[in-house]
Amino acid sequence: MNPSTLSDHDLHLYTKSSVIEEKISTLKVLKFLVEVHRRKLFIDFGYSTLLKYMVQELCYSEAESWTRIQAMKLILELPSVEKKIEEGKMSLSNAAILKDAIRHNLSAKNEIVSLALKNSELPARAFKKLLDPVIRVKSVVLSERLLIKMAKIQKGMSEIELIESLVDEKIRSLQFQKELRTSKKPCSNSRYISKGVQQKLFLRSSYQCEHVDKNGKRCQEKRNLQHDHIHPYALGGSNSASNIRFLCSGHNQRRAFKTYLPSK
Ligand SMILES: [Zn+2]
Repeated sequence: MNPSTLSDHDLHLYTKSSVIEEKISTLKVLKFLVEVHRRKLFIDFGYSTLLKYMVQELCYSEAESWTRIQAMKLILELPSVEKKIEEGKMSLSNAAILKDAIRHNLSAKNEIVSLALKNSELPARAFKKLLDPVIRVKSVVLSERLLIKMAKIQKGMSEIELIESLVDEKIRSLQFQKELRTSKKPCSNSRYISKGVQQKLFLRSSYQCEHVDKNGKRCQEKRNLQHDHIHPYALGGSNSASNIRFLCSGHNQRRAFKTYLPSK
């Protein structure tokens, strides 16, 4: 159908019905994403997170992916939101903002949700302030030498994103070392992983997920790493460094999913 041939009346009607179709399609996509997320299907395509899968495989932008993931999680948490989105009473971006507001303000969850569901449209600006308050610090002067070093590892990140990722990495490393220092050695027949083995794992993996896909591509994830016994502990697998690897939570869950539901 060529819109330029329609009468004003029909153009108005077709535009309205197309918008309804668009909202239904959006919800349909969200429902598929819920299942992809549940199965951790993105792992099989070499992505450690749903976000990476959506950006690289489904060609959404990062912002579009983030919005859909947050909206998807909100629907899982508050099924009544689905109808609001379908009826056009809540946009995807406001659903995402609401989800983020809840995550950052668990104590005020009920208040935020009732306010959002009562109003036909979420007062997005009101929640944005709660999400990530910005604190201005005195202007910082960076030397040229430091900027050159930063440029080598920046990989498209802004200076602020780079600093945040480096701080995150330092926090993870300190956390890991703290766990090493405080872990107690329990009885001999247990899943206890000795400090020596942990140190070997840390050095071998550089604290990065050790999953390698069938094309030889290694997972890049460095957050939420978990120990995985290659030969299961329950079947007599040992606690040696050669039988243990670091997997990100996505790869670890995908492995468990395939173990328990191998037909999928
Ligand atoms: Zn991984």
